[in-house]
Amino acid sequence: GNKNINAKLVLLGDVGAGKSSLVLRFVKGQFIEFQESTIGAAFFSQTLAVNDATVKFEIWDTAGQERYHSLAPMYYRGAAAAIIVYDITNQASFERAKKWVQELQAQGNPNMVMALAGNKADLLDAKKVEAEAISLQSSALNEKLTEIRGKWWIRLTEAQAYAQEHGLFFMETSAKTAANVNDVFYEIAKRLPRV
Ligand code: GDP
Ligand code: MG
Repeated sequence: GNKNINAKLVLLGDVGAGKSSLVLRFVKGQFIEFQESTIGAAFFSQTLAVNDATVKFEIWDTAGQERYHSLAPMYYRGAAAAIIVYDITNQASFERAKKWVQELQAQGNPNMVMALAGNKADLLDAKKVEAEAISLQSSALNEKLTEIRGKWWIRLTEAQAYAQEHGLFFMETSAKTAANVNDVFYEIAKRLPRV
C-alpha cells in the first residue's frame, strides 16, 4: 500500500541565497523579486506524492543571519532532511553552505537526507551568456563573458565534487524560473527512509 510519511525539513544557508524564495516556489508556485528577509524562522507544509509514498513536508525556513545562529539547532534537530542553499553568484554564500554541512554532520540526525542547492541558476545560464556574447560581437565583452563562464564552471564542478565527497546530492536551482525546485523536494522524498 501507499505509505504516508511526515518529514521535518529545514532550509539553511546565507541570507539572500534564496531559501524563502525556494519555499515560496515549492509551496505556492510563486516568485517575488523583492522577497522580505525572514525573521527568526517561518513554517510551511506541503505534500508531495512519489511512487510508493505520500510525503508531507513540514518545512522550516530559517533566517540565515549570524545573530540567529544559536536558534538553528532547534530547527535542524530531529529533521529528516535539510536543503543547504547558496547563491551561485556569491562565493561567500558557498563557503557559508559548507559550514552548515559541517555543523549538520557533527550535530544533526545522522540519517538526515541532505541536499545542496546552488540557487539563482538563471543568473548564470551558460547558454544565455553565450548567446549574449555572440549577439554583441565585441571582443572585449566576449573575453569578459568567457572569464565569467570559466569561473562559474569551476564553481559548479567544485560544488558537485564537494557534494559527492560529503554524501549530499547537488542541484542547481532557480526559484525565479522554477528550474529544479520541485525536483529537489522530489529527490529528498525518494531518499527518505521508509519505516
Ligand atoms: P533568503 O534570505 O535565503 O530567504 O533569500 P530570499 O528568498 O529572501 O531571496 C533573496 C533575494 O534573492 C530576493 O530578492 C529574491 O527575489 C532573490 N532570489 C531568490 N531566488 C532567486 C533566483 O533563483 N533567481 C534570482 N534571479 N533571484 C532570486
Ligand atoms: Mg528568508
